[in-house]
Amino acid sequence: MSRIVVAGSLNADLTIYCERLPSPGETVHGNDFAVNPGGKSANQAVAAARLGGQVTLLGAVGADPNGDMLVASTAGAGVDVSHVARVSRPTGVAVISVDTAGENSIIISAGANATLAPEHMDPALFAGASVVSLCLEVSLDTVQAAAQAGHDAGATVLLNLSPFAPVAQELARLTDVLLVNAHEGSQFLGGYDMPAADAPANAWHGALEEFVRHGLNKVLLTLGADGSVVLDATNSAAPVVRIAPTVVQAVDTTGAGDAFTGAVAARLAAGDSLVDAARYASVAAALAATKKGTQAAYPSSGEVAARL
Ligand code: ATP
Repeated sequence: MSRIVVAGSLNADLTIYCERLPSPGETVHGNDFAVNPGGKSANQAVAAARLGGQVTLLGAVGADPNGDMLVASTAGAGVDVSHVARVSRPTGVAVISVDTAGENSIIISAGANATLAPEHMDPALFAGASVVSLCLEVSLDTVQAAAQAGHDAGATVLLNLSPFAPVAQELARLTDVLLVNAHEGSQFLGGYDMPAADAPANAWHGALEEFVRHGLNKVLLTLGADGSVVLDATNSAAPVVRIAPTVVQAVDTTGAGDAFTGAVAARLAAGDSLVDAARYASVAAALAATKKGTQAAYPSSGEVAARL
């Protein structure tokens, strides 16, 4: 198993479980409240490490109890946290609401994550990495510098386009595999009308053409409970492959996308093809949705193997 570098965010997730999500201007009564380790990059790192990946996390937290919690949770999963800085800003937080259907809405405050800067993307930290996993919860300049360092090291650069922001052509050029849900994918393509989530493989060729026009040859489109689609313009034999959903009783889908990305990183680092990595990730992410919370819900390789 070769090394994975995850560069980006760590957040404390402040979650309230409620009957239904409030509309703008509305207050609703919630049920349980929980504070848990989260942040897209920390989640991806934990997901990959729990599945056997050898993961280094680059990021920043505050010198506060939330920072302690995040360092403990990532290190506890086996992630190398020696490049997670302790800074004078508070640890990032995500305020999350989850309804009884497992649907969520989230607001994040970057805090310490905003201090992660391009100069922290030291090429020496990327040497020998086979996969670099990135998201958009830190500055775009930092993401671009990490993508460049990963590219220069010969790693496969994964970019999870979440939370959505328009990305420069240069970042798209440095991205080997884009991971997006259908909504973010449509935004990236300037409002492209995506097929229905349960549409068969042949309905997705137009979306692949659009991604290629925007500089992306390989895209993993996640479709929630409908599974995912692998779009790969470099695979002329099978440019579009639909990955069937793993049917589970979803309790909390928060962080399912991160579980998916972390699992893809782990399996690509282990030598899987993109399609095999996506199949594996589909099972890992579905299992993650069966428990409350994010990192605590992520499965081990044994649990995934039992459902494959
Ligand atoms: P989030 O932002 O909540 O982490 P996302 O919008 O980035 O998620 P989704 O497409 O919702 O990503 O989910 C990612 C993957 O997780 C899906 O492609 C699917 O494999 C799996 N998944 C999510 N929800 C379910 C579900 N209810 N049942 C089975 N699998 C699911």
